[in-house]
Amino acid sequence: MLTEDIMDEVKRREHALEIIRKRIGDHGRSGIYDLTGLSGGFSLDEDDMALLETYVGPAVFEERLQEAGVRHLGGEKVAAFNRTSSAILAAVLAITEPGSALIHYLPEMPSHPSVPLSAELASVRYHETDDFREPFPEDTSLVVVTGSTMDHRVISESLLKDIIGRAGDAGIPVLVDDASGARLRTVIFNQRRACDLGADLAVTSTDKLMHGPRGGLMAGRADLIDRVKSKAYQFGLEAQPPLIAAMVRALEDFDPSDILEALERKGELLEMMDDPDIEETPTGIMIRTESLRRRYGSTWSGEDLSAALAMILLEDHGIITIPAAGMPGASMTIRLDLAAADAGRLGAEAIKSALTDSMRKLAGIIDDASAMRRTIFG
Ligand SMILES: *Cc1c(COP(=O)(O)O)cnc(C)c1O
Repeated sequence: MLTEDIMDEVKRREHALEIIRKRIGDHGRSGIYDLTGLSGGFSLDEDDMALLETYVGPAVFEERLQEAGVRHLGGEKVAAFNRTSSAILAAVLAITEPGSALIHYLPEMPSHPSVPLSAELASVRYHETDDFREPFPEDTSLVVVTGSTMDHRVISESLLKDIIGRAGDAGIPVLVDDASGARLRTVIFNQRRACDLGADLAVTSTDKLMHGPRGGLMAGRADLIDRVKSKAYQFGLEAQPPLIAAMVRALEDFDPSDILEALERKGELLEMMDDPDIEETPTGIMIRTESLRRRYGSTWSGEDLSAALAMILLEDHGIITIPAAGMPGASMTIRLDLAAADAGRLGAEAIKSALTDSMRKLAGIIDDASAMRRTIFG
């Protein structure tokens, strides 16, 4: 294994950022194609800029955040956090009791690390499952349901509704981790918003499938939002005015047709590629770590192969994916999100040849340990 711990992941990410910096130096921003689906848009205008102060900002943006946030997620009230992970941590700390249980249902394991790590910090017994028939453990104080996984595996509305109903009957609050699901489920699968299905809380990332900044937006019951918010203030997990301003802009400008256009691009690309290791996601394509291991049959782990392929895509073609530049703990699946703003600029033909070239190049270095290491860590 080349990537053994979180320090290696940080090193890999820093190498990716260095390659991005160099490509931007050589070719400008147009030399980079961010297909992570996490565009981190930060559009502000002149009027917004004048308001980015600690107390002035919230006074102005708070009202617009409530309006745009509730329109997007439903619920009675919303609150903004530094990241989705911060919102999840604040909710777990605010709602659970130490020693009680937190059960997490998700369409496919594993969970985003923020849920189990928050449970650990809150001294809560954690259990995750993809079997929705599993009963709640004794003394459960919070039920978490993931609407769409990091790899964009989406829950069915009937399962989501059923688990929310069961938790309601048992008097246990439900938090839906709808980081990408708040848009994938509603726009592509025509599902209802989590709060409309009865969820007590739902959280989404304003960075996923919308042109907003990395930030977490939580909606739901006003009493619970207030509790989660006060916990967030204690630990500095809440979004600061510049972030809130950009979240408001992104929510106000959200246009589902950007996501629907990705469906057309995906169809075109899948038709051209015809490779069993390339699988479909709701808004793009992916190559799983297991598929890479099967394909290359080498001594490297699927994660190492994925990191190397992601680095080649970045260095040779300027394509950013999460296994190259993502945060430690993020999924190592190579996912090309065709709803990303840069996907239109690249086009299906160029994506196909970048993938084919990169997979060929990886085959050429897998027997050379030092080349593999250099590719990943620089
Ligand atoms: C992305 C994601 C998160 C965390 O989002 P951050 O903004 O990175 O904190 C949590 N859960 C799921 C399912 C996600 O996809």
